[in-house]
Amino acid sequence: MWCVRPIPLKVPPSATNPSFDAIVIGGGHNGLIAAAYLGRAGRRVLVVEKRELIGGCCVTEETWPGFRVNTAAYLVSLLQPRIIEDLELARHGYAVLPKDPAFFSPFPDGRCLFMWQDAARTLAEVAKFSARDAQAFSKYEHNLERIAGAFASTLMEPPPADIVAALAPKLTAEELKSFEKLLTWSVMDFLDEWFESPEIKVTLATDGFIGANGGPRSPGTAYILLHHMMGMVGGKRGLWGFVQGGMGAIPNAIAGSARSYGAEIRVNASVSRILIKNNEAYGVVLENGEEIAAPLVISDLDPPTTYLKLVEKGILPEEFTARIARYRTEGTSMKINLGLNGVPEFRSLPGGAGPQHRATIHICPSIEYVEAAWADAREGRPSRSPLLEMTIPTMYDPGLAPRGHHIMGVFLQYAPYTLRDGNWDDLRETVTERVLDLIEEEIPNLRKILVHRQALTPVDLERKFGITGGNIFHGELALDQMFAARPGYRSPIQGLFLCGSGTHPGGGVMGACGYNCAREILG
Ligand SMILES: Cc1cc2nc3c(=O)[nH]c(=O)nc-3n(C[C@H](O)[C@H](O)[C@H](O)COP(=O)(O)OP(=O)(O)OC[C@H]3O[C@@H](n4cnc5c(N)ncnc54)[C@H](O)[C@@H]3O)c2cc1C
Repeated sequence: MWCVRPIPLKVPPSATNPSFDAIVIGGGHNGLIAAAYLGRAGRRVLVVEKRELIGGCCVTEETWPGFRVNTAAYLVSLLQPRIIEDLELARHGYAVLPKDPAFFSPFPDGRCLFMWQDAARTLAEVAKFSARDAQAFSKYEHNLERIAGAFASTLMEPPPADIVAALAPKLTAEELKSFEKLLTWSVMDFLDEWFESPEIKVTLATDGFIGANGGPRSPGTAYILLHHMMGMVGGKRGLWGFVQGGMGAIPNAIAGSARSYGAEIRVNASVSRILIKNNEAYGVVLENGEEIAAPLVISDLDPPTTYLKLVEKGILPEEFTARIARYRTEGTSMKINLGLNGVPEFRSLPGGAGPQHRATIHICPSIEYVEAAWADAREGRPSRSPLLEMTIPTMYDPGLAPRGHHIMGVFLQYAPYTLRDGNWDDLRETVTERVLDLIEEEIPNLRKILVHRQALTPVDLERKFGITGGNIFHGELALDQMFAARPGYRSPIQGLFLCGSGTHPGGGVMGACGYNCAREILG
């Protein structure tokens, strides 16, 4: 257990009469949410953000003139409804564009699979691959929706000591058994129990690979599937959506709300050290040497960055430091953003813009394909044929690019942060070219319409966003790093708190970490 015994908060002598009650290090969405709730409770809060813009991994940047790119995160679903309501995010500009169809998977034999918001349409699609799977599908969805709903009801609370016991009153015995499997099994073992068609299984399994340091048969990947199913958009559990104006509209809306409660937000303000005296935090030092005092310091940075880089060596208990050093943050993902001056044409569905352009597009033809991709990563090299998940936000929000142009986001598994040979700066170009080749097998006109590209390897993600190991969740989501086993909101230092995705309930644009941390502080 990481949870440190609650200590009553008091103002250390070194910080009497500071201008702020709390400083939040990092203007990612969780840091901003913590700031907004503290501001709402009457605290004077300052957020200091290293970059020139807020949002952390949830940003929209004008990467090329006229193209507003979701540099990292690209879809929303997990953002907690209570936060949206409490902080009046709609009033501050937040609007979701539900994704329909949810998925489009083309296969090498020319067939393709859509999954729609409309259940009957999806069933007809599934039946093209297996009548038996079409029969099982509704029950599968119902089962997962019930479990995800029950699980989601625990997210805005402290980590339960026993999650299975916590969900027992909310689920049937059969559902609870299924939940236990989701916590511990591999995504393929889980799906094998429900379906026979390899195409149906691999399409559903993709959510179990995104951000995972594991392959189709690695225990624990079934949980990653559940993690990606527990949100909702437009009242539909498991549905994802694009954000009007890009993902950066989320932190902007939260910042608008936080400012309305008096919070101050400074960009280009990188913290180099947390000030601590007699085991009490009393402020921060910026890279330019400026000291800012406050009796509360709340870090939106991941646990290793917070404790191993910003806290002076020797202050934290040795055993605590050793556990943080062992906390796993190996990233396995890469993001490639493309600017296009035309519409991608699909080999399997030729013609102009259609539903395939509005879906999450998978280049993930078989489980064997993912197994081979994962085998490469396990050996410390980028997958030669990686799993690709692609989205075209301009199909929903054309204003994100100049007229007639599009943006395509490509999320890639697996790109292991730690390479056995070579380094990512040398491999970036080779991997990107290989990815373009793979996409061209399905979208033959890709290179003809390609006008811009940006490739972010796990090392680039670490450099740009400060996420250790390029891990998109601020640390692996594995059972031994979840719930009370994930670093706690409180630290062993009085007045120093953690509010980022490295705390329970983990990564994604969810906001629960920031909310839970603020609640822990406010009591
Ligand atoms: C490539 C990629 C794709 C993703 N796709 C999705 C998706 O589609 N949907 C989804 O829900 N989730 C997605 N995620 C995960 C999600 O984006 C993150 O889990 C989430 O945004 C993290 O938010 P956070 O507030 O906890 O931390 P962060 O966003 O990491 O914020 C931390 C902030 O601290 C700042 N900072 C760092 N060091 C300092 C310092 N020394 N001083 C001051 N400030 C500092 C950083 O600049 C940053 O703004 C993705 C992540 C990545 C990387």
